[in-house]
Amino acid sequence: EAITVQELANRMAEKGADLVKAMFNLGMPVTITQTIDQDTAELLVEEFGHNIQRVSEADVDIVTTDDVDPEETLKPRPPVVTIMGHVDHGKTSLLDALRGTDVTRGEAGGITQHIGAYQVKTKGGDIVTFLDTPGHEAFTEMRMRGANVTDIVVLVVAADDGLMPQTIEAINHTKAAGVPMIVAINKMDKPEAKPQRIRERLLEHEIVVEEMSGDVQDVEVSAKTGDGLDKLLDAINLQSELLELKARPDRDAEATVVEAKLDKGKGPLATVLINRGTLKRGDIFVVGTQSGRVRALHDDKGRQVKEAGPSMPVEVLGLGGVPRAGDTLTVVEDEQRAREVAEYRQEKADEKRTTVAPTNIDTMFSALNTSVVEFPVVVKADVQGSVEAITTALNRLSNDLIKVRILNSGVGAITESDATLAAASNAPIIGFNVRPNAKARQQIERNKVEMKYYDVIYHLTEAIAKEMAGELGPER
Ligand code: GDP
Repeated sequence: EAITVQELANRMAEKGADLVKAMFNLGMPVTITQTIDQDTAELLVEEFGHNIQRVSEADVDIVTTDDVDPEETLKPRPPVVTIMGHVDHGKTSLLDALRGTDVTRGEAGGITQHIGAYQVKTKGGDIVTFLDTPGHEAFTEMRMRGANVTDIVVLVVAADDGLMPQTIEAINHTKAAGVPMIVAINKMDKPEAKPQRIRERLLEHEIVVEEMSGDVQDVEVSAKTGDGLDKLLDAINLQSELLELKARPDRDAEATVVEAKLDKGKGPLATVLINRGTLKRGDIFVVGTQSGRVRALHDDKGRQVKEAGPSMPVEVLGLGGVPRAGDTLTVVEDEQRAREVAEYRQEKADEKRTTVAPTNIDTMFSALNTSVVEFPVVVKADVQGSVEAITTALNRLSNDLIKVRILNSGVGAITESDATLAAASNAPIIGFNVRPNAKARQQIERNKVEMKYYDVIYHLTEAIAKEMAGELGPER
């Protein structure tokens, strides 16, 4: 990290000329506009009797770095499980059914809250954390952002259907992540279920299940009747034991955002999964480019909790803004530090945007080469995780002939400004689990803006891909 002499002088509230003089005396003649490196800057700071308070790349890294906890401080932690598979094979049903097996469910005050992840306590007393947003889009997006929260993937395959495109995608994503997999052969209650055929087809993708003398556990289940769910939980716990998952509970918390949104009444909310340490009420933290102080913590049953330890999902109140799924939350010593790091990150992010955008080869190319058709859209969704999954999926639809251009994307209802933007660019608005507010509706009607509503990402991308093909016309 380099800095100019002038900038350093400004930060120290010293005269630039004095720094140049000091440098000269140190045997390093420089001009005021010259850039100096970190070590030289530190030397100067000390020379002027200031304390070194680094807010630089290296400094931010200290906040998110992988300082390793000593072995003797580690304690076993529950596994974090993601369910993947083809659409309609029963991911959501399975998540609901597994939630229903929780032995603590009956406890007073516990009402199911969808916060993006939940925990189940099995009859045997083991605890398992499930990510409540099924599908490989979310999984991959998180991974791309450096957040490897998933310990085990459960691949759901419907016994009456077989391996479908998204099953294979899920297999590939899981392999790429190096995460162990358990195969759940679902819909076993159906008379037309053919589990053996599934096992054979899996061989073609180098998944050799135990039934076929391999080492990938396979369990026959029915999300509908609940058959086999206990066996699936056993399989998860066995896999978890093999992984020897551990984390240090008694330290400042480090967590990953799995879902974030803006709540009308409560303000910005984020569900985080604790990676290590214990998050407590009152803790001061940075998360992405936001800072905050934990005002309250809620578990997946809507109950207030005082603290949350490793692998536990909690909803955090007290954020300065809405972070992004995959962001790391780090507890820091005080508010000033939190603000400093958050601001620094925001500056970095802004810099990146302004310096990268105009030189982006793709945009230059599409501006110069008229043969590239643009497909503009406005995307709004109910949670940040969906926004990111959708924009990633849409960007993947682009090719040499046609490019998706996301004019705006964000969390929340479709607003008047979304409608204006869409009208100006003759773009459709894509609403994922959100609707336009009253003002936006008027705009939409007046300008005949095309509205598209979805609640399944797969349906959304399929429809847009079709539209894009139509846009190109038969001659292409
Ligand atoms: P997802 O798209 O993978 O989340 O699939 P869903 O959970 O929405 O399930 C798709 C459909 O399959 C729904 O109509 C479910 O009721 C049905 N389904 C899911 N699991 C089972 C099962 O074990 N047996 C039967 N008969 N139907 C199931």
